[in-house]
Amino acid sequence: MNINREANFVAEYDVIVAGGGVAGVAAAVAAKRMGKSVLLIEKSIGLGGLATNGLVNLFVPMCNGRGVQIIKGMAEELLRLSVKYGYDTIPEAWQNGEPGNGERTRYVTKFSGPIFTLALIDFVHGEGVDLLFDTIITAPVMEGNVCRGLIVENKTGCEFYGAKMVIDTTGDADVLYRAGVPTVQGQNYHTYAPKSVTLDSCRKAAEAEDMSKLYGSFIMGGRANLYGGNQPEGKPTRGGTTVKDITEYVIENHIECLENIKDSDRRKRTIVTLPTMPQFRTTRHIDGDYVLQTEDAYKHFDDSIAAICDFDRRDYLYEVPYRTLTRKGFPNLITAGRSAAAAGYAWDVLRVIPPAILTGQAAGVACAMALDDGTGLDNIDICKLQKILESQDVMIHFDDALVPAKEEEDVNAGAEDHI
Ligand SMILES: Cc1cc2nc3c(=O)[nH]c(=O)nc-3n(C[C@H](O)[C@H](O)[C@H](O)COP(=O)(O)OP(=O)(O)OC[C@H]3O[C@@H](n4cnc5c(N)ncnc54)[C@H](O)[C@@H]3O)c2cc1C
Repeated sequence: MNINREANFVAEYDVIVAGGGVAGVAAAVAAKRMGKSVLLIEKSIGLGGLATNGLVNLFVPMCNGRGVQIIKGMAEELLRLSVKYGYDTIPEAWQNGEPGNGERTRYVTKFSGPIFTLALIDFVHGEGVDLLFDTIITAPVMEGNVCRGLIVENKTGCEFYGAKMVIDTTGDADVLYRAGVPTVQGQNYHTYAPKSVTLDSCRKAAEAEDMSKLYGSFIMGGRANLYGGNQPEGKPTRGGTTVKDITEYVIENHIECLENIKDSDRRKRTIVTLPTMPQFRTTRHIDGDYVLQTEDAYKHFDDSIAAICDFDRRDYLYEVPYRTLTRKGFPNLITAGRSAAAAGYAWDVLRVIPPAILTGQAAGVACAMALDDGTGLDNIDICKLQKILESQDVMIHFDDALVPAKEEEDVNAGAEDHI
Protein backbone atom coordinates (compact mmCIF):
# COMPACT_ATOMS: atom_id res chain seq x y z
CA MET A 1 0.00 0.00 0.00
CA ASN A 2 1.40 3.41 -0.98
CA ILE A 3 0.30 6.16 1.42
CA ASN A 4 2.55 8.91 0.11
CA ARG A 5 0.60 12.01 -0.95
CA GLU A 6 1.44 14.54 -3.65
CA ALA A 7 1.53 18.12 -2.41
CA ASN A 8 0.43 20.85 -4.81
CA PHE A 9 2.73 23.87 -4.92
CA VAL A 10 0.63 26.99 -4.24
CA ALA A 11 2.90 29.99 -3.64
CA GLU A 12 6.21 31.16 -2.20
CA TYR A 13 6.57 33.73 0.59
CA ASP A 14 9.45 35.62 2.14
CA VAL A 15 8.26 34.52 5.57
CA ILE A 16 5.84 31.82 6.66
CA VAL A 17 4.62 31.95 10.23
CA ALA A 18 3.43 28.58 11.49
CA GLY A 19 0.65 28.98 14.06
CA GLY A 20 -1.56 31.97 14.78
CA GLY A 21 -1.32 32.34 18.56
CA VAL A 22 -0.23 35.69 20.00
CA ALA A 23 3.42 34.98 19.16
CA GLY A 24 2.53 34.10 15.57
CA VAL A 25 0.38 37.20 15.14
CA ALA A 26 3.20 39.41 16.42
CA ALA A 27 5.79 37.66 14.24
CA ALA A 28 3.67 37.93 11.10
CA VAL A 29 2.85 41.60 11.58
CA ALA A 30 6.45 42.47 12.53
CA ALA A 31 7.81 40.86 9.35
CA LYS A 32 5.07 42.42 7.22
CA ARG A 33 5.80 45.87 8.63
CA MET A 34 9.38 45.38 7.42
CA GLY A 35 8.05 45.02 3.86
CA LYS A 36 8.09 41.22 3.51
CA SER A 37 5.45 38.96 1.98
CA VAL A 38 4.06 36.95 4.88
CA LEU A 39 1.76 33.95 5.18
CA LEU A 40 0.31 33.01 8.57
CA ILE A 41 -0.99 29.44 8.78
CA GLU A 42 -3.39 28.41 11.54
CA LYS A 43 -5.04 25.06 12.15
CA SER A 44 -8.11 26.44 13.91
CA ILE A 45 -10.50 29.04 12.52
CA GLY A 46 -9.47 31.90 14.81
CA LEU A 47 -6.36 33.77 15.87
CA GLY A 48 -4.95 34.02 19.39
CA GLY A 49 -4.18 30.39 20.26
CA LEU A 50 -4.26 29.70 23.97
CA ALA A 51 -5.10 33.34 24.69
CA THR A 52 -8.43 32.99 22.86
CA ASN A 53 -9.22 29.40 21.80
CA GLY A 54 -7.58 28.14 25.00
CA LEU A 55 -9.70 30.55 27.09
CA VAL A 56 -6.66 32.13 28.75
CA ASN A 57 -8.15 35.60 28.66
CA LEU A 58 -5.67 37.49 30.82
CA PHE A 59 -2.64 39.62 29.98
CA VAL A 60 -0.36 39.05 32.97
CA PRO A 61 1.43 42.07 34.48
CA MET A 62 3.61 44.08 32.11
CA CYS A 63 5.19 46.22 34.85
CA ASN A 64 7.65 45.75 37.68
CA GLY A 65 5.11 46.29 40.45
CA ARG A 66 6.47 49.76 41.16
CA GLY A 67 4.76 51.75 38.44
CA VAL A 68 7.32 51.13 35.68
CA GLN A 69 6.21 49.41 32.50
CA ILE A 70 8.78 46.82 31.42
CA ILE A 71 6.95 45.01 28.62
CA LYS A 72 5.97 47.35 25.82
CA GLY A 73 6.34 47.17 22.02
CA MET A 74 3.77 45.01 20.29
CA ALA A 75 2.65 43.57 23.65
CA GLU A 76 1.34 47.02 24.57
CA GLU A 77 -0.31 47.30 21.15
CA LEU A 78 -2.00 43.91 21.50
CA LEU A 79 -3.04 44.46 25.12
CA ARG A 80 -4.81 47.66 24.08
CA LEU A 81 -6.32 45.85 21.06
CA SER A 82 -7.60 43.03 23.30
CA VAL A 83 -9.85 45.47 25.17
CA LYS A 84 -10.58 47.97 22.41
CA TYR A 85 -14.01 46.51 21.58
CA GLY A 86 -14.68 44.53 24.76
CA TYR A 87 -14.40 44.84 28.52
CA ASP A 88 -11.15 45.43 30.37
CA THR A 89 -9.95 45.21 33.94
CA ILE A 90 -6.99 47.55 33.59
CA PRO A 91 -6.45 49.10 37.03
CA GLU A 92 -7.39 52.77 37.29
CA ALA A 93 -3.75 53.75 37.86
CA TRP A 94 -2.75 52.30 34.48
CA GLN A 95 -5.68 53.48 32.37
CA ASN A 96 -3.69 56.35 30.92
CA GLY A 97 -0.22 54.83 30.73
CA GLU A 98 2.67 54.36 33.10
CA PRO A 99 1.93 55.90 36.51
CA GLY A 100 5.46 55.74 38.00
CA ASN A 101 5.62 56.90 41.65
CA GLY A 102 6.13 53.40 43.02
CA GLU A 103 2.57 52.40 42.04
CA ARG A 104 2.01 48.89 43.41
CA THR A 105 -1.05 47.81 41.44
CA ARG A 106 0.11 45.94 38.41
CA TYR A 107 -0.56 46.55 34.75
CA VAL A 108 -2.77 43.61 33.87
CA THR A 109 -6.12 43.03 32.17
CA LYS A 110 -8.74 40.44 31.42
CA PHE A 111 -10.33 40.59 27.99
CA SER A 112 -13.12 38.93 26.03
CA GLY A 113 -11.51 36.03 24.14
CA PRO A 114 -13.97 35.94 21.23
CA ILE A 115 -13.85 39.71 20.78
CA PHE A 116 -10.05 39.61 20.81
CA THR A 117 -10.24 36.92 18.11
CA LEU A 118 -12.31 39.26 15.95
CA ALA A 119 -9.99 42.20 16.59
CA LEU A 120 -6.92 40.09 15.79
CA ILE A 121 -8.17 39.11 12.37
CA ASP A 122 -9.03 42.72 11.60
CA PHE A 123 -5.51 43.68 12.73
CA VAL A 124 -3.58 40.98 10.87
CA HIS A 125 -5.68 41.21 7.71
CA GLY A 126 -5.45 45.01 7.81
CA GLU A 127 -1.64 44.82 7.95
CA GLY A 128 -1.66 42.83 4.71
CA VAL A 129 -0.60 39.43 6.08
CA ASP A 130 -1.99 36.51 4.04
CA LEU A 131 -3.90 33.99 6.12
CA LEU A 132 -4.76 30.32 5.85
CA PHE A 133 -7.22 28.90 8.36
CA ASP A 134 -8.28 25.36 9.02
CA THR A 135 -4.89 24.31 7.71
CA ILE A 136 -2.58 22.03 9.61
CA ILE A 137 1.15 22.14 8.95
CA THR A 138 2.33 18.59 8.64
CA ALA A 139 6.01 18.84 7.66
CA PRO A 140 8.83 21.17 6.74
CA VAL A 141 10.56 20.35 3.46
CA MET A 142 14.27 20.32 4.25
CA GLU A 143 17.33 20.50 2.02
CA GLY A 144 20.00 19.69 4.54
CA ASN A 145 19.30 22.13 7.36
CA VAL A 146 17.62 24.67 5.11
CA CYS A 147 13.83 24.73 5.10
CA ARG A 148 12.35 25.23 1.61
CA GLY A 149 8.75 25.49 2.78
CA LEU A 150 5.91 23.69 4.52
CA ILE A 151 3.55 20.89 3.60
CA VAL A 152 0.03 21.46 4.88
CA GLU A 153 -3.32 19.67 4.83
CA ASN A 154 -6.65 21.42 4.48
CA LYS A 155 -10.03 21.11 2.75
CA THR A 156 -8.37 21.71 -0.62
CA GLY A 157 -6.01 18.81 -0.09
CA CYS A 158 -2.30 18.46 0.45
CA GLU A 159 -0.43 21.68 -0.40
CA PHE A 160 3.12 23.02 -0.39
CA TYR A 161 4.00 26.64 0.40
CA GLY A 162 7.54 27.74 -0.29
CA ALA A 163 9.33 30.02 2.19
CA LYS A 164 12.62 31.84 2.52
CA MET A 165 12.21 32.04 6.29
CA VAL A 166 9.99 30.04 8.64
CA ILE A 167 8.92 31.11 12.12
CA ASP A 168 7.59 28.26 14.24
CA THR A 169 4.93 29.61 16.58
CA THR A 170 2.93 26.40 16.86
CA GLY A 171 3.53 26.50 20.62
CA ASP A 172 4.69 22.89 20.32
CA ALA A 173 7.74 23.51 18.12
CA ASP A 174 6.10 21.17 15.59
CA VAL A 175 8.04 22.52 12.63
CA LEU A 176 11.46 22.76 14.24
CA TYR A 177 11.10 19.34 15.86
CA ARG A 178 10.29 17.78 12.49
CA ALA A 179 13.15 19.74 10.90
CA GLY A 180 15.58 18.08 13.29
CA VAL A 181 16.13 20.89 15.80
CA PRO A 182 16.65 19.34 19.25
CA THR A 183 13.70 19.96 21.56
CA VAL A 184 12.80 19.45 25.19
CA GLN A 185 9.56 17.70 26.15
CA GLY A 186 7.53 19.28 28.95
CA GLN A 187 4.96 17.68 31.27
CA ASN A 188 1.56 19.08 32.14
CA TYR A 189 -0.62 18.92 35.19
CA HIS A 190 -4.34 18.21 34.96
CA THR A 191 -6.02 21.50 33.99
CA TYR A 192 -9.29 22.07 32.15
CA ALA A 193 -11.22 25.30 32.67
CA PRO A 194 -14.22 26.10 30.46
CA LYS A 195 -15.86 29.54 30.71
CA SER A 196 -19.08 29.24 32.65
CA VAL A 197 -21.72 31.48 34.22
CA THR A 198 -24.16 31.14 37.10
CA LEU A 199 -27.31 33.11 37.75
CA ASP A 200 -25.38 34.79 40.58
CA SER A 201 -22.50 35.84 38.30
CA CYS A 202 -25.05 37.19 35.81
CA ARG A 203 -26.73 39.19 38.59
CA LYS A 204 -23.37 40.58 39.76
CA ALA A 205 -22.42 41.62 36.22
CA ALA A 206 -25.84 43.24 35.71
CA GLU A 207 -25.66 45.11 39.03
CA ALA A 208 -22.15 46.36 38.26
CA GLU A 209 -23.03 46.95 34.59
CA ASP A 210 -19.76 45.18 33.83
CA MET A 211 -19.49 42.10 31.59
CA SER A 212 -16.04 41.27 32.96
CA LYS A 213 -17.81 39.98 36.07
CA LEU A 214 -19.96 37.56 34.11
CA TYR A 215 -17.66 34.65 33.49
CA GLY A 216 -15.78 32.38 35.78
CA SER A 217 -14.46 28.87 35.82
CA PHE A 218 -17.29 27.62 37.99
CA ILE A 219 -17.35 24.30 36.19
CA MET A 220 -13.99 22.60 35.83
CA GLY A 221 -12.35 19.43 34.66
CA GLY A 222 -8.80 19.25 36.01
CA ARG A 223 -8.10 21.96 38.59
CA ALA A 224 -4.31 21.87 38.76
CA ASN A 225 -2.40 25.14 38.75
CA LEU A 226 0.99 25.74 37.17
CA TYR A 227 2.84 24.66 40.31
CA GLY A 228 0.96 21.33 40.42
CA GLY A 229 -1.36 22.38 43.24
CA ASN A 230 -4.65 20.39 43.04
CA GLN A 231 -3.06 17.71 40.86
CA PRO A 232 -4.98 14.53 41.78
CA GLU A 233 -2.78 12.17 43.75
CA GLY A 234 -1.16 9.52 41.61
CA LYS A 235 -2.34 11.07 38.37
CA PRO A 236 0.45 11.09 35.79
CA THR A 237 1.37 14.31 34.00
CA ARG A 238 0.96 14.57 30.22
CA GLY A 239 3.43 15.61 27.52
CA GLY A 240 0.73 16.77 25.13
CA THR A 241 2.60 15.99 21.92
CA THR A 242 0.95 12.72 20.97
CA VAL A 243 -2.57 12.25 19.66
CA LYS A 244 -3.11 9.63 22.38
CA ASP A 245 -2.28 12.18 25.09
CA ILE A 246 -4.56 14.81 23.61
CA THR A 247 -7.46 12.43 23.03
CA GLU A 248 -7.25 11.02 26.56
CA TYR A 249 -7.01 14.56 27.94
CA VAL A 250 -10.19 15.58 26.11
CA ILE A 251 -12.17 12.46 27.04
CA GLU A 252 -11.16 12.56 30.71
CA ASN A 253 -11.81 16.25 31.16
CA HIS A 254 -15.12 16.30 29.33
CA ILE A 255 -16.42 13.41 31.44
CA GLU A 256 -15.06 15.03 34.61
CA CYS A 257 -16.78 18.35 33.77
CA LEU A 258 -20.04 16.56 33.22
CA GLU A 259 -19.70 14.66 36.51
CA ASN A 260 -19.05 17.95 38.29
CA ILE A 261 -22.27 19.54 37.12
CA LYS A 262 -24.61 16.59 37.47
CA ASP A 263 -25.69 17.45 41.00
CA SER A 264 -26.20 21.20 40.55
CA ASP A 265 -29.39 22.89 39.36
CA ARG A 266 -29.17 22.80 35.56
CA ARG A 267 -31.25 26.00 35.23
CA LYS A 268 -28.91 28.07 37.39
CA ARG A 269 -25.59 27.62 35.59
CA THR A 270 -24.28 26.91 32.15
CA ILE A 271 -21.03 26.47 30.26
CA VAL A 272 -20.66 29.29 27.73
CA THR A 273 -17.66 27.87 25.93
CA LEU A 274 -15.25 24.95 26.14
CA PRO A 275 -11.58 25.40 25.30
CA THR A 276 -11.01 24.42 21.68
CA MET A 277 -7.36 23.62 22.20
CA PRO A 278 -5.81 21.64 25.06
CA GLN A 279 -4.84 23.81 28.02
CA PHE A 280 -1.29 22.47 28.11
CA ARG A 281 1.23 24.99 29.35
CA THR A 282 4.36 23.18 28.29
CA THR A 283 4.56 20.79 25.39
CA ARG A 284 7.81 21.06 23.44
CA HIS A 285 10.31 23.88 23.37
CA ILE A 286 13.57 24.07 21.52
CA ASP A 287 16.97 23.36 22.95
CA GLY A 288 18.20 26.67 21.64
CA ASP A 289 21.60 28.30 21.31
CA TYR A 290 20.98 29.63 24.81
CA VAL A 291 18.59 28.19 27.39
CA LEU A 292 17.37 30.88 29.76
CA GLN A 293 17.85 29.73 33.35
CA THR A 294 15.95 30.72 36.47
CA GLU A 295 19.17 32.13 37.95
CA ASP A 296 19.54 34.45 34.93
CA ALA A 297 17.14 36.88 36.61
CA TYR A 298 18.69 40.39 36.70
CA LYS A 299 21.42 39.38 34.22
CA HIS A 300 22.14 41.53 31.20
CA PHE A 301 22.67 39.80 27.87
CA ASP A 302 24.48 41.42 24.95
CA ASP A 303 21.97 39.84 22.58
CA SER A 304 18.86 40.70 24.59
CA ILE A 305 15.78 41.24 22.44
CA ALA A 306 13.50 42.26 25.32
CA ALA A 307 13.36 42.88 29.03
CA ILE A 308 10.48 41.04 30.71
CA CYS A 309 9.00 40.90 34.20
CA ASP A 310 7.51 38.16 36.33
CA PHE A 311 3.74 37.81 36.84
CA ASP A 312 3.99 36.81 40.50
CA ARG A 313 6.97 38.60 41.96
CA ARG A 314 7.42 42.33 42.07
CA ASP A 315 10.80 43.56 40.72
CA TYR A 316 11.76 40.20 39.21
CA LEU A 317 13.30 40.92 35.79
CA TYR A 318 14.89 39.00 32.97
CA GLU A 319 16.43 39.84 29.65
CA VAL A 320 15.67 37.44 26.80
CA PRO A 321 18.69 36.51 24.66
CA TYR A 322 18.03 36.26 20.92
CA ARG A 323 19.73 32.86 21.11
CA THR A 324 16.68 31.42 22.97
CA LEU A 325 14.87 31.54 19.60
CA THR A 326 17.47 29.97 17.33
CA ARG A 327 19.61 26.88 16.88
CA LYS A 328 22.96 27.21 15.13
CA GLY A 329 23.14 25.41 11.83
CA PHE A 330 19.49 26.10 10.92
CA PRO A 331 19.85 29.37 9.02
CA ASN A 332 16.21 30.03 8.13
CA LEU A 333 14.30 28.54 11.07
CA ILE A 334 13.41 30.37 14.26
CA THR A 335 10.83 30.01 17.01
CA ALA A 336 8.96 32.37 19.33
CA GLY A 337 6.35 32.21 22.06
CA ARG A 338 6.11 29.29 24.45
CA SER A 339 8.52 27.11 22.49
CA ALA A 340 11.48 29.44 23.12
CA ALA A 341 14.41 27.90 25.00
CA ALA A 342 14.17 28.31 28.76
CA ALA A 343 14.20 26.09 31.82
CA GLY A 344 12.40 25.97 35.14
CA TYR A 345 10.74 29.14 36.36
CA ALA A 346 12.50 31.23 33.68
CA TRP A 347 10.41 29.34 31.11
CA ASP A 348 7.24 30.17 33.06
CA VAL A 349 8.11 33.86 32.99
CA LEU A 350 8.96 33.68 29.28
CA ARG A 351 5.97 31.66 28.01
CA VAL A 352 3.08 33.91 29.12
CA ILE A 353 1.20 36.19 26.75
CA PRO A 354 3.17 39.49 26.88
CA PRO A 355 6.67 37.94 26.54
CA ALA A 356 5.36 35.54 23.87
CA ILE A 357 4.32 38.60 21.86
CA LEU A 358 7.74 40.21 22.27
CA THR A 359 9.63 37.11 21.14
CA GLY A 360 7.24 36.93 18.17
CA GLN A 361 7.98 40.53 17.31
CA ALA A 362 11.72 39.91 17.54
CA ALA A 363 11.52 36.79 15.36
CA GLY A 364 9.53 38.66 12.69
CA VAL A 365 12.02 41.53 12.58
CA ALA A 366 14.98 39.12 12.60
CA CYS A 367 13.62 37.25 9.56
CA ALA A 368 13.08 40.46 7.61
CA MET A 369 16.57 41.68 8.51
CA ALA A 370 18.19 38.39 7.55
CA LEU A 371 16.49 38.56 4.14
CA ASP A 372 17.55 42.18 3.61
CA ASP A 373 21.12 41.47 4.66
CA GLY A 374 21.37 38.16 2.83
CA THR A 375 22.44 36.31 5.93
CA GLY A 376 21.28 33.38 8.06
CA LEU A 377 19.22 33.85 11.21
CA ASP A 378 22.13 32.52 13.23
CA ASN A 379 24.36 35.27 11.92
CA ILE A 380 22.38 38.50 11.98
CA ASP A 381 23.60 41.86 13.26
CA ILE A 382 22.23 41.87 16.81
CA CYS A 383 22.88 45.59 17.38
CA LYS A 384 20.80 46.38 14.32
CA LEU A 385 18.01 44.08 15.52
CA GLN A 386 18.05 45.76 18.93
CA LYS A 387 17.93 49.22 17.37
CA ILE A 388 14.92 48.31 15.23
CA LEU A 389 13.12 46.79 18.21
CA GLU A 390 13.95 49.82 20.34
CA SER A 391 12.48 52.06 17.65
CA GLN A 392 9.32 49.93 18.02
CA ASP A 393 9.23 50.77 21.74
CA VAL A 394 10.63 47.48 23.05
CA MET A 395 12.73 47.78 26.23
CA ILE A 396 15.89 45.86 25.37
CA HIS A 397 17.83 46.21 28.62
CA PHE A 398 16.32 47.02 31.99
CA ASP A 399 17.80 49.89 33.96
CA ASP A 400 19.97 48.65 36.85
CA ALA A 401 18.19 51.14 39.08
CA LEU A 402 15.17 48.79 38.83
CA VAL A 403 17.07 45.86 40.35
CA PRO A 404 16.17 45.58 44.04
CA ALA A 405 19.08 45.76 46.49
CA LYS A 406 17.90 42.55 48.05
CA GLU A 407 15.45 40.33 46.23
CA GLU A 408 12.03 40.95 47.68
CA GLU A 409 9.83 37.88 48.01
CA ASP A 410 6.72 39.80 47.18
CA VAL A 411 4.10 37.59 45.60
CA ASN A 412 1.72 39.91 43.85
CA ALA A 413 -1.83 39.35 42.72
CA GLY A 414 -3.17 40.50 39.40
CA ALA A 415 -2.86 37.14 37.75
CA GLU A 416 -5.15 35.20 40.01
CA ASP A 417 -7.43 33.73 37.34
CA HIS A 418 -5.13 31.70 35.19
CA ILE A 419 -1.39 31.20 34.84
C1 LIG B 1 -3.98 26.66 31.63
C2 LIG B 1 -3.15 27.82 31.18
C3 LIG B 1 -3.26 29.02 31.85
C4 LIG B 1 -2.50 30.13 31.43
N1 LIG B 1 -2.68 31.34 32.06
C5 LIG B 1 -2.10 32.44 31.55
C6 LIG B 1 -2.47 33.72 32.00
O1 LIG B 1 -3.32 33.88 32.87
N2 LIG B 1 -1.88 34.80 31.42
C7 LIG B 1 -0.91 34.68 30.47
O2 LIG B 1 -0.38 35.70 30.03
N3 LIG B 1 -0.53 33.46 30.03
C8 LIG B 1 -1.14 32.35 30.52
N4 LIG B 1 -0.85 31.12 30.00
C9 LIG B 1 0.22 31.00 29.00
C10 LIG B 1 -0.18 31.56 27.65
O3 LIG B 1 -1.55 31.40 27.39
C11 LIG B 1 0.59 30.91 26.52
O4 LIG B 1 1.86 30.51 26.90
C12 LIG B 1 0.71 31.87 25.34
O5 LIG B 1 -0.60 32.30 24.99
C13 LIG B 1 1.42 31.14 24.23
O6 LIG B 1 1.25 31.78 23.01
P1 LIG B 1 1.93 31.16 21.71
O7 LIG B 1 1.50 32.04 20.60
O8 LIG B 1 3.36 30.92 21.96
O9 LIG B 1 1.31 29.69 21.53
P2 LIG B 1 -0.18 29.18 21.37
O10 LIG B 1 -1.14 30.09 22.02
O11 LIG B 1 -0.16 27.76 21.79
O12 LIG B 1 -0.45 29.28 19.79
C14 LIG B 1 -0.04 28.31 18.88
C15 LIG B 1 -0.96 28.36 17.67
O13 LIG B 1 -0.45 27.49 16.68
C16 LIG B 1 -1.51 26.70 16.16
N5 LIG B 1 -0.91 25.44 15.73
C17 LIG B 1 -0.32 24.51 16.50
N6 LIG B 1 0.14 23.50 15.76
C18 LIG B 1 -0.16 23.80 14.49
C19 LIG B 1 0.06 23.14 13.25
N7 LIG B 1 0.71 21.96 13.18
N8 LIG B 1 -0.41 23.72 12.12
C20 LIG B 1 -1.07 24.91 12.16
N9 LIG B 1 -1.29 25.58 13.32
C21 LIG B 1 -0.83 25.03 14.45
C22 LIG B 1 -2.48 26.54 17.30
O14 LIG B 1 -3.79 26.25 16.84
C23 LIG B 1 -2.37 27.92 17.98
O15 LIG B 1 -3.29 28.83 17.43
C24 LIG B 1 -1.59 29.99 30.36
C25 LIG B 1 -1.50 28.77 29.69
C26 LIG B 1 -2.28 27.71 30.08
C27 LIG B 1 -2.19 26.43 29.32
